[in-house]
Amino acid sequence: MAQGGNSSSPSIGELVAGKTPTFSFEFFPPKTPDGERHLWQAIRELESLHPSFVSITYGSGGGTRDKTVAVTERIAAETTLLPLGHLTCVNHTVAELRNIIGHYAAAGVRNVLALRGDPPGDPQGEWIAHPQGLRYASELVSMLCEVGNFCVGVAAFPEKHPRSPDYDTDVRYLLAKLRAGADYAITQFFFNWQDWTRMRDAVVAGGSDAPIIPGIMPVTNVKQIQRMAQLSGAAFPADLGNRLLAVADDPEAVRQVGVEVATTLCERLLAEGAPGIHFITMNRSTATREIWQSLRVDQPA
Ligand code: FAD
Repeated sequence: MAQGGNSSSPSIGELVAGKTPTFSFEFFPPKTPDGERHLWQAIRELESLHPSFVSITYGSGGGTRDKTVAVTERIAAETTLLPLGHLTCVNHTVAELRNIIGHYAAAGVRNVLALRGDPPGDPQGEWIAHPQGLRYASELVSMLCEVGNFCVGVAAFPEKHPRSPDYDTDVRYLLAKLRAGADYAITQFFFNWQDWTRMRDAVVAGGSDAPIIPGIMPVTNVKQIQRMAQLSGAAFPADLGNRLLAVADDPEAVRQVGVEVATTLCERLLAEGAPGIHFITMNRSTATREIWQSLRVDQPA
């Protein structure tokens, strides 16, 4: 059995269950040297805000997957930040997953977000598990928990996962991941605060008090509108789309609308008792810093 993560690094499950809301940032592994430069610039700029943790997404296939583990390990070794490594089941055998988990553990990465992943190529396509792999994220949660000493998070979908037949079924599978040993969930991005309270209440009604951290993606350019709908599998809200398209010729105005909308959403979620906010940064720091400043987040001592 692989040795678990470094028990001296904090557990995100404990941080997020505390009284003070957590603030965290998501990055993705870069594909090019230019992308690598942007990523490290954003990491360094956001480090000064003392986020509770930062997460690194796992590539949906090939290319950037080794990069995820390498960037996560480098964050652990060279920055003051607490890294959360994402891991998916896509195209991996159980043996490969154990090996990656071993790499995280050896680097002292104790926090992992356990995901099924999307079918490579078409995120909304049919899911086919690797014949020697895992079918669902709940199985990866169990695997990480068996290895021991990992704090495990999972994904949640306030507008339900696009492939779930209905909302109640979706919540039932989320509850199964929490029961398998996950300590908390981070949501897909969304725009209506009621979608988060509805999911939080459904999870509580299902018998779990696990923190559900809202994932927030500020819109910073109009090209994102279509891409966001494609990624989330949910329709982009028409009123926000119209506001953004009305200023489409002025990139700075678009960004300002995106920051204002995200700030208002975060304020409302925190007022409703959200345990924290997870910002999807797209490897850029400016919009996230502006929202952070508008929220007047108290920095930890
Ligand atoms: P699961 O929980 O396994 O659910 C997948 C589907 O199967 C759902 O429709 C669910 O209802 C259904 N299901 C679950 N259990 C069962 C069961 N026992 N029987 C029948 N049906 C079941 N993708 C990446 O590739 N890399 C990333 O780094 C990444 N990071 C993410 C971070 C967050 C915060 C979120 C919200 C998503 C992320 N994703 C990432 C996308 C995610 O991998 C996909 O949305 C994927 O389709 C679902 O993953 P899951 O972990 O929720 O899967």
